[in-house]
Amino acid sequence: MNRNHEAGHTPVHSEMERCVLCWRETDIPKDTPVSRRKYYLEGQGQLCAKCYYELYGAGVFRYTQDTE
Ligand SMILES: [Zn+2]
Repeated sequence: MNRNHEAGHTPVHSEMERCVLCWRETDIPKDTPVSRRKYYLEGQGQLCAKCYYELYGAGVFRYTQDTE
């Protein structure tokens, strides 16, 4: 008998993260490890490229480069 039941094979349409600033959907799937995400701000959340570069341009990301 052929079971017409596709159990366990649901097409996983992974949800995308939303930008924490403008709430637009990014192209980062929610199951992406944080370490592999682009435009992810630690302590803040996921940003879209636009907001990321806006913040970047505004000098928000002040990673200390002179640690010596
Ligand atoms: Zn945004």
